[in-house]
Order: sequence, then C-alpha cells, then structure tokens
Amino acid sequence: TYALEISDLKKRYDNGFEALKGVNLKVEKGDFFALLGPNGAGKSTTIGIMCSLVNKTSGKVSISGNDIDDNFAKAKQHLGVVPQEFNFNVFETVFNVVVTQAGFYGIPAQVAEERAEKYLKQLGLWDKKDVQSRMLSGGMKRRLMIARALVHEPEILILDEPTAGVDIELRRSMWEFITELNESGTTIILTTHYLEEAEQLCRNIAIINAGEIVENTSVKALLKTL
Ligand code: ADP
Ligand code: ADP
Repeated sequence: TYALEISDLKKRYDNGFEALKGVNLKVEKGDFFALLGPNGAGKSTTIGIMCSLVNKTSGKVSISGNDIDDNFAKAKQHLGVVPQEFNFNVFETVFNVVVTQAGFYGIPAQVAEERAEKYLKQLGLWDKKDVQSRMLSGGMKRRLMIARALVHEPEILILDEPTAGVDIELRRSMWEFITELNESGTTIILTTHYLEEAEQLCRNIAIINAGEIVENTSVKALLKTL
C-alpha cells in the first residue's frame, strides 16, 4: 500500500472555481515527497481534502490504504498535518497545545506529556513550555505546530509551505529536523513554491499548476532536464 494515493481528485469551490482538475498522485511509504507549484496551484486545497478540512467534489483519496470517505477516523491516525496558518489556542501554554492535541487522538495523559517533552526538546522549545503560545515568534510557532502534529506519532507528516516566511538559519534547522524524521521512517510530504526547497530536501516531486499535475518524477531526474 502507498502512504498516499490520490485518483482523479476534483475540487470545485462554491463560487464555481475549479481548483483541482483531476489530480493523480502516489507517494510510497518512507518517501520524502514535494508537491511544488506556484501560489494558487491547488496545493493547500489538496492537503485540506486529505485532512478533511475541505470537501472534495469527486475522486478518491487513500491514506495508508484507508479511503478517507469510508474510514477517515483510521486515515487520520496515520496523518500529522502542519498547516500554513497558526490554528492553535493562543492562550494555551506551549506544553498544553501539544498535550491537548494528544487528547484528540485518545492518547493517555502520561504518554502525551512524555511525548510533548520529547518533541518540544527536539524542536528547541522546551524552555518555552510554560509560555502562552501567543508570545512565541513566528518561527517558534511553526516549530510548535510540528511538535503538535507529531504527538500521535503518525506515519505520514504533511507540511504545507513549512518554511514560508522563516529566516534562512531557522529554515536550515527545520530542514535538518524533517530530514532526520524521514530517516527514522516517517513519510514526509511537503508543499512548496521554492524549487530550491524541493531540490535540497526531497526524493520525489510532483509539480502542480492550475489544478493539474504537470510533472511527477524523481528530483534527480527533474534536475537533469533543467
Ligand atoms: P496553493 O496552496 O497552491 O497556493 P490553493 O489550494 O490555496 O493553492 O488555491 C487554489 C485556487 O483555489 C486558488 O486560485 C484559490 O484562489 C482558489 N481558492 C482557494 N480557496 C477557495 C475558496 N474557498 N473559494 C474559492 N476559491 C478558492
Ligand atoms: P474531530 O475529532 O472533532 O473530527 P479533528 O480531530 O478533525 O476534530 O480536529 C481537531 C483539531 O485538530 C482541529 O483544530 C484540526 O484542525 C486539528 N487536526 C485534525 N487533524 C489533525 C492532524 N492530523 N494534525 C494536526 N492537526 C489536526
């Protein structure tokens, strides 16, 4: 089974705009995969559908072999999502943002607290654990969203434009962290509009433009054609 399998996925928004025009994608387990495309190409729409924040118009999406229409609860267990916008409770402490998320997955409190400590330490946020999340810098908030997305130890981590607006130094350290996560077995799918990011990090790449996949290849092969 694939980590992600998308067939003929279409999305028409209520205003009639066709954001996805029949997307097909397969991502192998363990892959480090980039969905690359300009602003407005349909990247966030695709991710929104995968985590059921956006309703699809037609097509199939399967996560670790679980069709999201038939078995979203199971699909969700395999998926961690780092959205573009900060969407946590800004009055919660950093520690509690992570622990609360664990509660959505039925993880016992003690395990949740151990994992919160582990991931906040790995992401360099442990000294901020008692601070309300609204006090964090943009880069820290982004790292907090990664810690939160990992608390149920998903097989697949999806990052929507993870380093948009992040300075170069922090970008490097986030890349390192994500690479180590991939090396330890987590499938990584990220969206980006920087070829450089896809090129430096990822193994396979799909290019999306105006709601259609226009290229789907290995990064190595793509670079040879440029
Ligand atoms: P990307 O993430 O690649 O920048 P999006 O998936 O956010 O692209 O958007 C794809 C297209 O769909 C864009 O043209 C965007 O303006 C449009 N779009 C996104 N959300 C909506 C919406 N709720 N209603 C209408 N059009 C939308
Ligand atoms: P419910 O369990 O009521 O269906 P969800 O679990 O879908 O609700 O969503 C709970 C909160 O967690 C929402 O704010 C949602 O955006 C967020 N969320 C859902 N799934 C994930 C995920 N895999 N990774 C990160 N955040 C998620």
